[in-house]
Amino acid sequence: MTDFVIRPPQQASVAVSGGQARFPIRRVFCVGRNYAAHAREMGKDPEREPPFFFTKPADAIVPAEGSVPYPPLTGNLHHEIELVVAIGKAGANVSSARALDLVWGYGVGVDLTRRDLQDVAKRMSRPWDWSKAFDASGPCGPLQPVAETGHLSQGEIWLKVNGETRQQGDLADLIWPVGDVIAYLSEAVVLEPGDLIFTGTPAGVGALQVGDAVTAGIERLGEIAFTIGTP
Ligand code: MN
Repeated sequence: MTDFVIRPPQQASVAVSGGQARFPIRRVFCVGRNYAAHAREMGKDPEREPPFFFTKPADAIVPAEGSVPYPPLTGNLHHEIELVVAIGKAGANVSSARALDLVWGYGVGVDLTRRDLQDVAKRMSRPWDWSKAFDASGPCGPLQPVAETGHLSQGEIWLKVNGETRQQGDLADLIWPVGDVIAYLSEAVVLEPGDLIFTGTPAGVGALQVGDAVTAGIERLGEIAFTIGTP
């Protein structure tokens, strides 16, 4: 046993559907602008340039249930519904054809974004961390093993706020599907079991207020529901 000078942080983890065992989280990678209509609403031309990535801390992943706190330093907190991929096997420089072998399972997640801070970061050529990597910025529902869901290359993905549809898309519209995302990511880092990948959001991102009820889902993965709590 390693002797630590302070108590080591608790292992970050996310629930797994239908049991008590949890999936331990190592790192969280997120793809930017992976649906053409969302790229357009963010003012970008959705040409098929290579995907780009940003990250969140492992412990930014919180259960997508109950109350998720409205974060500090923002007046424009945005929802981004995303398919989450859980990596169960290590891999470097994997081909798109072999990439899906690394997948342990899938989940429904929301990439919460302090859009006003992101706008400033873009304008001033600063990093995105403060807009993307804050506490509780990644509400995520229970993961489901690929053995039960199969791989997800199509199916509806949606998000509602107070019962009103805000985002609606289809996984078939991913510019870079899951296998390609994993292949690109594995060129940059050695993927390891416990890594999560948020695969990008369809169009319709928008602001959340304290008290808003968020419901969201992905075909074959079920639904999540949480409210935005006080800071
Ligand atoms: Mn996103």
